[in-house]
Amino acid sequence: MPITSTEVHLARRPNGLPVLQDFNFVEQELADPDDSQVLIQNLYLSVDPYMRGRMNEGKGYAAGYPLNEAMFGGAIGRVVASRQNDFQEGDLVSSNMGWREGFLSDGRGLSKLAATSLPISAYLGPLGGTGRTAYEGLLGAAQMQDGETVFVSGAAGAVGSIAGQIARLKGCRTIGSAGSVEKVAFLKEIGFDSAFDYHDGNLLAQLQEGAPDGLDVYFDNVGRDHLEAALAHMKRLGRIALCGAISQYNATAPVAGPRNLAVAIGLGLNLRGFIVGMFPELRESFQRDMVSWLESGQITWRETIREGIRNAPDAFIGLFSGENIGKMIVKLAD
Ligand code: NDP
Repeated sequence: MPITSTEVHLARRPNGLPVLQDFNFVEQELADPDDSQVLIQNLYLSVDPYMRGRMNEGKGYAAGYPLNEAMFGGAIGRVVASRQNDFQEGDLVSSNMGWREGFLSDGRGLSKLAATSLPISAYLGPLGGTGRTAYEGLLGAAQMQDGETVFVSGAAGAVGSIAGQIARLKGCRTIGSAGSVEKVAFLKEIGFDSAFDYHDGNLLAQLQEGAPDGLDVYFDNVGRDHLEAALAHMKRLGRIALCGAISQYNATAPVAGPRNLAVAIGLGLNLRGFIVGMFPELRESFQRDMVSWLESGQITWRETIREGIRNAPDAFIGLFSGENIGKMIVKLAD
């Protein structure tokens, strides 16, 4: 019996901050699977800041979204019908086929979720790319060592909130920045030693107050003024993991680099950009450590949930005004 799936299409390329008119909703009839297919109903979709780059014309680090086609991104779904031996009805799978309620697949790009005691949405958060980004950024890109002082920006978000907790578990002193009083309280709740609202004044002064001896590691989710302030407060041989630069994703003209980059020379700093998956040697330890930290409660995580496919664009846009604490997720079905 065919089912109808609503998909989100990119209707035009956003200019600056995306608006709802940049997106379209299109209904698709999904037929019964043929001999080699599986029919998936999506349950949870991920919306992520990096998707903003995919909406631009031209080449970014991730493939661009064509106009007037369903967009893609992380999703967790359930197999509702299968004509394939590898998947059975009821299996839970992750895929890159987000931004739609359902889809037919030949099985490529689908992964069955490993059984854990954790809620399945965790596979879009700490157990998925989000958690792995935090882990690889600290232990791969920044080569973080026990006992160091670690600054995380965007610290109340999906990646940042996990990064701060990993650093704490590794015996580091942690300082986090976020965009509201409520978020600062959340950072203290999850164990940051020090936290501040970046709207409250001079960033460097706040870093000097929260980490008087300087920073060994900076996990950069924000770029621009945060990167400049961190550079100005790094210790000798410090390391900066360049994870993201959300403050400039909606820029309509090229953005200047940090004005004080030259401090990296005298201090012997290492600035290392990375994309999740660039440290495959950490994959097994990430899975082992993260399941154990989550199941034992040593790492906790928050989600901000929006319901329904028609709220997906709004959820995405909300990332740029800080509407989320923890991972922003769109829930489609139980
Ligand atoms: P978040 O959950 O952190 O959501 C985005 C947050 O960014 C918002 O909640 C908001 O929080 C903050 N923010 C938005 N605009 C600004 C601004 N102008 N200045 C400062 N903060 C801002 O998203 P993710 O955890 O998914 O991603 C965090 C970063 O990591 C992003 O830059 C993303 O691109 C990057 N990333 C990189 C990956 C990689 O492989 N390198 C993989 C995944 C993510 P607030 O209220 O605090 O301002």
